[in-house]
Amino acid sequence: MPLEAGKKPEMVQKGRKMTRLPLAIFVILMIFSVLLAFQKQPSTEFDYKSAEAMMKVIQALHRQDEEEVIQKLLDEALKFEAYEVSHERYTDPERSKENQVTLSQFRRFMLSLSGDQVDTQDNRRLMITQPFYEDAIKNPEKFQKAIQKIQSTPSSQFQDSFDLALYWLPEKPDLNIHVWVLFDIGGSGAWAFRTKDGAHNIGFNLLHMLNDKGEFDLELFLGILAHEIHHLGEPQSHYLEAINYDSLRETSRLRLYSDYVIPFVTEGMAQKFCNNAPGTLTPKPYPEKVFSATSLNLKDWTYFQKQFIDIHNRAIKDLRQLLGSTSIDKTRFDEEYGKYWTWRAGEFEGKNFTLGRRYYYGTELMGVINDAFGRDVLFEGLKDLRKIPLLFNEGVKKLHPKDFEPYLFPEDLITLVQELY
Ligand SMILES: [Zn+2]
Repeated sequence: MPLEAGKKPEMVQKGRKMTRLPLAIFVILMIFSVLLAFQKQPSTEFDYKSAEAMMKVIQALHRQDEEEVIQKLLDEALKFEAYEVSHERYTDPERSKENQVTLSQFRRFMLSLSGDQVDTQDNRRLMITQPFYEDAIKNPEKFQKAIQKIQSTPSSQFQDSFDLALYWLPEKPDLNIHVWVLFDIGGSGAWAFRTKDGAHNIGFNLLHMLNDKGEFDLELFLGILAHEIHHLGEPQSHYLEAINYDSLRETSRLRLYSDYVIPFVTEGMAQKFCNNAPGTLTPKPYPEKVFSATSLNLKDWTYFQKQFIDIHNRAIKDLRQLLGSTSIDKTRFDEEYGKYWTWRAGEFEGKNFTLGRRYYYGTELMGVINDAFGRDVLFEGLKDLRKIPLLFNEGVKKLHPKDFEPYLFPEDLITLVQELY
């Protein structure tokens, strides 16, 4: 204490030595730089209001309250903005019809949870989500605890997720994000979405955020938060601008190539570096940290890791078809793509995939380039996706000098990709 007391006058004296004008300039500069620092920092706002309101519905369903009570609570919950945003996402015209779900379909589904027959209306999204709601109704206290835990998490931990996502983006984006923590209307665990008004949104489906012990998994949440922030940072935007993507014809080979590789790049980057995913060719980027994945994700991952060569050969075959054939039946191609690369593949393989192969394959491509040449070269690849097959080949040769042969892209394919314009 005496030391503190002694310090103060000295500081005041120093201040007095300054004339008034430089001091005023100094203060203005300080305020300006603080404001600038705030502007540059991406900001986030967490919203739990709809989750708290839907929690009341779940508890009422648990208690088997009167239908009128449930209906009233449900209508209260659905008024929150989180559901408006989720509805916009799940009815986005970019989504296939069979992957859409509306708020009114969801409302009907929720009300039916109090009866004997759950009304999924043959909607795939509602069918996926049904067991999760049934579990929540059986054990509402798990989810009540989850809400409390996430609300009491210090914001510095969320900042770490931001920093991680920004570190793996080639350009620092200007982001202002709304994070909606909600009991969601479709089956996704988390999503990043830009609403029509241009706002950046991240949705977290609480139903998917518990670990095997039924506890809220903070590590998982922070990894996924970084993953979604990375998507909002649009790592592909520089490339799309450079190739003037919007002016390319539907049948342009460069467009077909870009559409094909972008999911590998965006999901691969986010999954590898934000979720810390291990690969077959490269280890986790942060060996001391966990791979932030749900137990279902982990199952998919181990399954895919064993198939790396097959998956790689499939990518080569697809690229040949897209770039080397005289004509392409795009509808057919897209259908086959869905059945192999996305979570829909599970339907044909008797599995229940939560992540598709493209997440996994992307981490192998991005992981090899980063481990072999570092982040700057990886960013070069992001700025021109035509460099990726070549960089991957060079990387595999460097990392696996004795057994790289089966992992290479064929030379003629590399040339085809490099000559795209
Ligand atoms: Zn993703």
